[in-house]
Amino acid sequence: MIIKMNKFDINSITDFQVAERFMRYVQIDTESDPGSTSFPSTEKQKDLSRLLVEELQQLGVRDAHLDEYGYVYATIPSNTNKQVPVICFCSHVDTSPDCSGKDVKPLVHTNYQGQDIVLPDDPSVVIRYAEHPDLKNQIGNDVITASGTTLLGADDKAGVAEIMDAVRLWMAHPEIKHGEIKILFTPDEEVGRGVDHVDLDKLGAHFGYTMDGEKAGTIEDETFSADGARITIQGVSVHPGFAKGKMVSALKIAAAIVDGLPKDRLSPETTSHKEGFVHPVHIAGGVDQAVIDFIVRDHVTAKLAEHEAVLQQVAERVIAQYPGATYTLEVNEQYRNMKEVLDQHPEIMEVGLEAIKRAGLTPERRSIRGGTDGSRLSFMGLPCPNVFAGGHAFHGKREWVSRQDMEKAVLTILHLASVWEDRS
Ligand SMILES: [Zn+2]
Repeated sequence: MIIKMNKFDINSITDFQVAERFMRYVQIDTESDPGSTSFPSTEKQKDLSRLLVEELQQLGVRDAHLDEYGYVYATIPSNTNKQVPVICFCSHVDTSPDCSGKDVKPLVHTNYQGQDIVLPDDPSVVIRYAEHPDLKNQIGNDVITASGTTLLGADDKAGVAEIMDAVRLWMAHPEIKHGEIKILFTPDEEVGRGVDHVDLDKLGAHFGYTMDGEKAGTIEDETFSADGARITIQGVSVHPGFAKGKMVSALKIAAAIVDGLPKDRLSPETTSHKEGFVHPVHIAGGVDQAVIDFIVRDHVTAKLAEHEAVLQQVAERVIAQYPGATYTLEVNEQYRNMKEVLDQHPEIMEVGLEAIKRAGLTPERRSIRGGTDGSRLSFMGLPCPNVFAGGHAFHGKREWVSRQDMEKAVLTILHLASVWEDRS
């Protein structure tokens, strides 16, 4: 006997509200601040988080709340008899301090036809078709941009809006079966502190998906492994009028070390794909003492030590030319490639790829030349690949996202929970 299951067809959904939500959220300034010592780094991030809590409650998500640190937690209860793992969907509310996020004016370019997009508030800012390869996949779509003086904030308010619209659809369609779902909205991702105060026991999820990736159809299970390195140089300070044969300038040594770094490799500007680098990001000091801060990155954790050895060789060679000077090299672990964790739970990626396929896209597995909240969450016990949110050209005035790609992301979220229910 064949039992025909009358299953709800997720792909038949057409009443999306994700773009409208997105355009409301981007108008709320949530820029984070790397120089701040408070948490969250800027109070204004809570303006959006508070609104999200209100909207979640209006949608019937009763336990939605904002904690003292600015995290939003919420639970969509299970509506199936099956034992399904608890899945978390996560996005960050803050925008990058690299570009202003104040008074963002989102503009919709309906039925995009492959033209260069000139942003009206600063016509020198142009999103060129030739420079944005994914625009060729947007013909006929509605492309959303900022107006030329700010970033857009698709990173990561696209992810926030997608999760919110998926929540609305789950609440409106109880016939879509799923296990317990946890929602987590974090502050301060862009300043690298997004998970500093997250309470994973309270969250109670088995694993998660961050909605913070780029092109539609992509899912990322690999980030850089990251260290910070600091070279501190001790020189010999003497009054410049009496310095002959005595002064050893720490500042000049610092300059020589930076100049001594490999010029044709091992730097962000000379590497791509899976090549790592050593990158000076800050230099400070004077004659007596100087400090250089570096970031060290590679997808293979063991290679970080090789890159740090290069740094040490350069420093040794330079310092040997300045008798009387000394230096120290300190290395601090920042985050690790989440693939080391995700490879132990291959079904999390399998379901991710399957959900993207069910949403009508060609799934594409990618690695990130950077980190996400997911890299740290994975090592804290919440394995967390990164799913596309649809945004492009993050952290700048040319950022864009299309309505249609965000709708595909909403479908992918709904399918993710459904595939897990199917397999349980
Ligand atoms: Zn992001």
